[in-house]
Amino acid sequence: MTTRITHLIGGRSWEGASERAGDVHNPATGALTGRVDLASAELVGQAVATAKAAWTGWAGTSLAKRAQVVFAFRELLNARKHEIAALITAEHGKVLDDALGEVTRGLEVAEFACGIPHLLKGGFSENVSTRVDVYSIRQPLGVVAVISPFNFPAMVPLWFVPIAIACGNAVILKPSEKDPSAAVAVARLWSEAGLPDGVMNVVHGDKEAVDALLTHPDVRAVSFVGSTPIARYVYETGTAHGKRVQALGGAKNHMLVLPDADLDLAADAAVNAGFGSAGERCMAISALVAIDTIADELVEKITERMRKLRTGDGTRGCDMGPLVTGRHRDKVAGYVEEGVAAGARLVVDGREGDFDGGEDGFWLGPTLFDHVTPDMSIYRDEIFGPVLSVVRVRSYDEGLALINANPYGNGTAVFTNDGGAARRFQNEVEVGMVGINVPIPVPVSYYSFGGWKNSLFGDTHAHGAEGVHFFTRGKVVTSRWLDPSHGGLNLGFPQND
Ligand code: NAD
Repeated sequence: MTTRITHLIGGRSWEGASERAGDVHNPATGALTGRVDLASAELVGQAVATAKAAWTGWAGTSLAKRAQVVFAFRELLNARKHEIAALITAEHGKVLDDALGEVTRGLEVAEFACGIPHLLKGGFSENVSTRVDVYSIRQPLGVVAVISPFNFPAMVPLWFVPIAIACGNAVILKPSEKDPSAAVAVARLWSEAGLPDGVMNVVHGDKEAVDALLTHPDVRAVSFVGSTPIARYVYETGTAHGKRVQALGGAKNHMLVLPDADLDLAADAAVNAGFGSAGERCMAISALVAIDTIADELVEKITERMRKLRTGDGTRGCDMGPLVTGRHRDKVAGYVEEGVAAGARLVVDGREGDFDGGEDGFWLGPTLFDHVTPDMSIYRDEIFGPVLSVVRVRSYDEGLALINANPYGNGTAVFTNDGGAARRFQNEVEVGMVGINVPIPVPVSYYSFGGWKNSLFGDTHAHGAEGVHFFTRGKVVTSRWLDPSHGGLNLGFPQND
């Protein structure tokens, strides 16, 4: 039996007939479990109108009340996090623990947004000119859109939505059509938390819905996360239509291992960061850059660890789950073939092996290539699967140059016991998020998340102070309360005295 997954508009499930729908599968069994409504441009227009109508009241709601609603949402999300994690595993495939981890990281953004009264404090300067005061305030934008990818169905929407709402905006969330249920379940909590209907809406869809959001005159800002070609398209189209846009794109994250590193720690980290969530993380390590002198030993340690991993149904305590769709699984397996054909050494072949799940699940086990060179497609492309490529270099400088020449710049890590080398790396590497002996350096919610180069279009990163800045616009007020001494005509440019 399949479930119908509907839009959430104005606090209610949208019950009208849908012209188009998409398939949702359980990746661990391959079974079709849901059909998700795909919105037309007209329906997106209705959702935006609903959000706009709700916005005025919400924008005028006190900071005290807004903070209470976000706090109540945080409590509800915390209470329901296991249910949300189960929904993620059922549609995305990642193992339950990992799904819970993503909800928990999203929860931290809600916790950050509870501090909105403090975060929205402006500046005030008394007597900038005689008896003239100046102050700055930040105000909400209006209706904002959040468009999210399949790989973090709960966390990525949570990077933006609590802050957008706390700042006084109304939201249209367009989650990935591949695994949409978790986003709807989280969005429903807002009504329970006391948010007025229409401030938070979910519209499912594909390109048609995205285009409608990017061109609608009442959508003021767009936060997008997804692959680089679509991020670039969203940025260009949204900004051409006068919107503020932050569009986070794909990644190819390198981990540089220097000869003095603790190789056991580095091998653990490479396996965790390479194969967690089946490599379907924008911060996954996919290129391991090893200095030649330690490469053999490191590859051996990684291989030993990989042999112990269990791949299977995310509900059965396995280490790694399936890939999200059959099509994606075949695409990643295609890269494994290309790597072999290009002459890389296939050390562990994930196409072989036993999988603890349904026969028709979208399986591919952890895969390791050694002697990968930068011209090979397995190095050049973002594979977004459990495929780790070892690239050997002769020196720190060669490793750094390789990383800096890559068109992506999302995350990177260096493994070393040399503080001086680590400090040099942090300064010289052209990547937005850097780990020092930390393989997945996802910033905590009160810092901001975002890459450089082709990993982010726009200049504002997600959450933290930059998130608050993105979802508000500044106004500066210069005030003078009249005093008889201020009379008289003067057509010159205002000067301060
Ligand atoms: P995707 O680009 O296919 O889809 C992302 C969103 O865009 C979805 O909501 C989808 O419906 C929509 N979309 C897809 N095709 C479109 C089109 N032609 N026109 C308009 N909209 C379209 O990405 P995905 O496969 O869902 O997610 C994986 C990608 O996201 C990877 O590249 C990964 O690196 C990236 N990602 C990046 C970050 C980051 O922070 N930089 C975080 C998570 C994921």
